[in-house]
Amino acid sequence: MSGFCIATNLIIFSGVVWPKSLTFGMADKFDFMQHKENNQGKLIVFSAPSGSGKTTLVHRLMKNPRLNLAFSVSATSRPKRDYEEHGRHYYFLSPDEFKRKIAENAFVEWEEVYPDHFYGTLRSEVERLLSEGKNVIFDIDVKGGMNIKKYFPGRTLSVFVQAPSLEELEKRLRSRNTESEDKIRLRLDKAREEMQYAPQFDIMVINRDLDATERELTRILEDFLNKE
Ligand code: 5GP
Repeated sequence: MSGFCIATNLIIFSGVVWPKSLTFGMADKFDFMQHKENNQGKLIVFSAPSGSGKTTLVHRLMKNPRLNLAFSVSATSRPKRDYEEHGRHYYFLSPDEFKRKIAENAFVEWEEVYPDHFYGTLRSEVERLLSEGKNVIFDIDVKGGMNIKKYFPGRTLSVFVQAPSLEELEKRLRSRNTESEDKIRLRLDKAREEMQYAPQFDIMVINRDLDATERELTRILEDFLNKE
């Protein structure tokens, strides 16, 4: 991959869309992150193999009021897990409902991420959050991430989060205790495939340490959100 590393070796910039020097966010630019009047919020796409820490990072960043982020709740046809809530983690649809929405062109992007498990970003969800003056953050698979970037080219930052190694990824997936052996294998195969896409993202983060990664990402997001 072309690019360069900064700070603690956590971040590699692909050089595709992040052309200028980094001037990290400052308090006096805070107002640029509010977009209620002009509906010109920005989009931040997080994609990564499961187990990379992406979802935890997204949740942490969302707690930062300076970033003015709102989460794009995706629709899915996969079964709901015990701890999940409709409308908070996903909009849970039956496969037929999902297919009907595809036919109605209700999605900005959708993917059959695993066999019979559809996932997609609802156009209505993104429009609602932008109209509320928010910056929208997405936790979606790599192909979906690239499609969001194509759909909103000028205002999207795409971030690929990677675990330090496949071994570490496997360890994290097992420690979750939520998936069967078959599902873990499936996710690891998918992770290998997804890693090939990392160079196409604006930024790649190797998540060795959550706190350090969160700090780096906060600076990068502030800078991106403050850019005209
Ligand atoms: P999980 O079943 O673990 O919640 O998610 C499985 C995968 O689907 C993850 O990689 C997640 O990022 C991805 N995903 C979640 N929502 C969407 C979406 O709206 N579109 C796409 N393309 N992928 C999604």
